Amino acid sequence: MDNLHKEFIEIVADLRAHLELQKALGVKVVETGASEHVRNISDSPASSAAPKREQAARSVETPALSESSSLGAVRKELGDCTRCSLHASRKNIVFGEGAADARLLFIGEGPGVDDDEQGRPLRGEAGGLLTKIIENGMKIKRSEVYICTIVKCRPPENRHPEPEEIMTCIAYLKKQIAAIKPRVIVTLGNTATHALLNTTEGVTKLRGGWHVYEGIPVMPTFHPAYLLRVPSAKKQVWEDVQKVMAELEKTGKREA
Ligand code: SF4
Repeated sequence: MDNLHKEFIEIVADLRAHLELQKALGVKVVETGASEHVRNISDSPASSAAPKREQAARSVETPALSESSSLGAVRKELGDCTRCSLHASRKNIVFGEGAADARLLFIGEGPGVDDDEQGRPLRGEAGGLLTKIIENGMKIKRSEVYICTIVKCRPPENRHPEPEEIMTCIAYLKKQIAAIKPRVIVTLGNTATHALLNTTEGVTKLRGGWHVYEGIPVMPTFHPAYLLRVPSAKKQVWEDVQKVMAELEKTGKREA
């Protein structure tokens, strides 16, 4: 096969993946993506993550890791946790699930009603949409990524977690990240983004660009529950997912 033919086959394969991803996310408008691609390159975490944001992320205190070098050890340390008020109404602690050495980590806000029932993160309708994004869009099995939340117990009436609850529980999230060592993190929605990046900036403003937590590139995007309410935002999530895939690809090449 000559080079030109090979390139053509690769372009067609890329285009097909692009269209399948849009279909998976329910995006109806097809973009050329040319200008976005240019912005993507200049927006890469290595080149331009805003120093201010990096500083803010670094200022988040990292817990001592001596006893928590593996996910199992973190789970053991968490135990039958009663460290914050959320323990009182939960059915199950939802620690997280996925590959212990996942290259991609998704962080949501907290367990919903289905998650609490099953003891598993991002279930229900919103979780189903996330699975579609991962499996149909990114072509990765859900079991190959890791999914967890900022707080591990369901806030009553699906309210947002209170700052004290987040402050108490986030130590375990940080230990999970240190154990997994993901290449890329995706924060889903405002609560996860604010807590991990130590910012009050809204996800609408932060999404689409790279941020950094402990040297790891972080892409904030909309929570799948928001996409169920505002389907038109799927287009932005699709753009964010494209950047995440490009970054994973780049990281894979660097590691090879
Ligand atoms: S939310 Fe976190 S800190 Fe609070 S009880 Fe549950 S596991 Fe413990």
